[in-house]
Amino acid sequence: MHHPVGFGGGDLRRVPVFSHPSLLDHDTGPGHAERPERLAAVIEALRTAFPDLDLRQAPPATRGQLLRVHDAALLETVLDSRPTGRIPLDSDTVLSPGSAQAALHAAGAGVAAVDAVQGGSERRVFCAVRPPGHHATADIAMGFCLFNNIAVAAAHALDRYGLTRVSIVDFDVHHGNGTQAIFEAEPRVQYVSSHQMPLFPDTGRRDERGVGNIVNVPLAAGTGSPRFCEAWRERLLPEIDAFAPQLLMISAGFDAHWRDPLAQLQLDAEDFGWLTRELVAIAERHCEGRVVSMLEGGYDLQALRESSVAHLRALTG
Ligand SMILES: [Zn+2]
Repeated sequence: MHHPVGFGGGDLRRVPVFSHPSLLDHDTGPGHAERPERLAAVIEALRTAFPDLDLRQAPPATRGQLLRVHDAALLETVLDSRPTGRIPLDSDTVLSPGSAQAALHAAGAGVAAVDAVQGGSERRVFCAVRPPGHHATADIAMGFCLFNNIAVAAAHALDRYGLTRVSIVDFDVHHGNGTQAIFEAEPRVQYVSSHQMPLFPDTGRRDERGVGNIVNVPLAAGTGSPRFCEAWRERLLPEIDAFAPQLLMISAGFDAHWRDPLAQLQLDAEDFGWLTRELVAIAERHCEGRVVSMLEGGYDLQALRESSVAHLRALTG
């Protein structure tokens, strides 16, 4: 077996999970869908399904890493306002006393995951993080997202490792408007998404193509496994294969599950397992299997448990 230079002797058959206790301290308030219990459910389910789970504490992102994709004004809002209670940034995005540390560690997890796979000590990493990130634009925290975690990680892959082809694959039921906006003029990053439409944030039409690096396939409410798999097999997976990524990143939202209260697709956990195996196969063909996956949405706890286990099992291979 080929081991890249710098291989540190870790067990490449296991997929470590990067997370941090501070991620539970982002307090969105009673009745909010994006609640700490989501992450606790994911971690508990993974520990139960994988008794030897390699769970690691993610470092915080640095301001320099965040500034690769975000404006200084957004950093100031999230990191420097130091609220004493919960303050709304918009109708569904909240800043609490613990939010700054949570946002730093959620973004830092992705950066550390890129370092781990590019350094060769790991082949794949799953980042179990919240708040999610894919709705945050360069200058706006929105849709439960403060910083765009996966965009910060992808920008790190470009800058620190000089990569010229990074694919971000987003199967969250919502379109990742923030990720698309950040990279729509950046040909080194491909953004590929399926999502329910119409649905928040009302972007992601097929004709949104960026500089040819954006691929959107909107799906109607009620779409189930056969049409979802067909969309990926016939339209989305071939685009990723043709791009031949040097690193494959996943915005892993599990809110297209039939149980999810915020959307109306009809997938089950095994659909996420199938798609993840397909993505791993593409990564094996083009980039020695390197995958960095980051949790995005998913608002039913049982669906989150089953789906995250199916996802990590498929990443483990
Ligand atoms: Zn979502």
